[in-house]
Amino acid sequence: MTTPHKNSQLCPNCRGLISRNETVCPYCGLKNPGSWWKNSGLLRLFQDSDLFLKGLIGVNIAFFVLSLIMNPGGLGMGMSPFGFLSPNNRSLLLLGATGTMPIESLHRWWTLVSASYLHGGLLHLVFNMIALRQIGPLIIQEYGLARMFSIYTLGGIGGFLLSYLAGVPFTIGASAAVCALIGAALYYGKSRGGTYGQQVYQQVGGWALSIFVFGLLVPGINNWAHGGGMATGILCGLLLGYQENRREMLNHRLLGAACALGTILILFWAVLTAVIYRFS
Ligand SMILES: [Zn+2]
Repeated sequence: MTTPHKNSQLCPNCRGLISRNETVCPYCGLKNPGSWWKNSGLLRLFQDSDLFLKGLIGVNIAFFVLSLIMNPGGLGMGMSPFGFLSPNNRSLLLLGATGTMPIESLHRWWTLVSASYLHGGLLHLVFNMIALRQIGPLIIQEYGLARMFSIYTLGGIGGFLLSYLAGVPFTIGASAAVCALIGAALYYGKSRGGTYGQQVYQQVGGWALSIFVFGLLVPGINNWAHGGGMATGILCGLLLGYQENRREMLNHRLLGAACALGTILILFWAVLTAVIYRFS
């Protein structure tokens, strides 16, 4: 058993064991591998995938509960199963729903991020979280956690941006972000190829197809957001690469950390403005 010397550290880029005094990593050429921001706490967010995925689902549940608390009159047992435990539109608007209405009338561009954490009913939440629990671990395995969260965040933004451009007035849900993970899985399967790649491509392709069939049959589904999310996911797969063709490096973790920091700040802002508005 060896204990790393206290004057040594892991390179934040390639994770090679290097000296703290090194100005350039001898393995990967990273400059100033000891600088504080290249070793900051935000990058350590991506060390425990299982905990991170649970946390992500936890934030979605917390926002759902909060949106219900914001309108205590809205806990109706509606006739449709989608109406059960549904927050009203006012409470969703306050907490950061997106679409042409919040963006054009209220100039809330940041809702392109926050809307992914809001749901219109218990079934909507449960469907999306089951899908995230299904596809999330595959994307974490093939892309690493930092890229998975970047794809998730950018996919939500891309999906809701397309839906905004298409003129959808009011929309919420994690499905644009989840569709981005599906897009990234499709890209991975197609790009990697082989028996395993083909297997991934066919299985996930089946899911993508059923999402679109479901979207065409069930009214009120935001197909623009689904399609935009999926396209963003494919593009992210192409641009960011996956573990087998581009191992996770510092720039991947920095992008993931920027997505995490941006999301935390926006969700904090959403809750703060909603609470101030609702209770003042
Ligand atoms: Zn290195």
